[in-house]
Amino acid sequence: MDSALCAQTDPDAFHPERGGVRAAPARQVCGRCEVRVECGAYARSTGQADGVWGGQTARQRRLSRRSDGARR
Ligand code: SF4
Repeated sequence: MDSALCAQTDPDAFHPERGGVRAAPARQVCGRCEVRVECGAYARSTGQADGVWGGQTARQRRLSRRSDGARR
């Protein structure tokens, strides 16, 4: 949490599903975040249903889960 770059930005930017914001700016912040990999893994393992985590939107996480399931 101490290394989370989003903690230094507008938290609403990380919730594009609430409307009014696009995911791209949040994803750009994630791209510079040193805990991006851990953040994305946490979001996937805990089934985070909304928000940008680790550079992925909720939709992208759902699609990743589906394709991971299809590979098994
Ligand atoms: S990778 Fe995670 S911790 Fe880092 S800025 Fe993005 S949402 Fe925040």
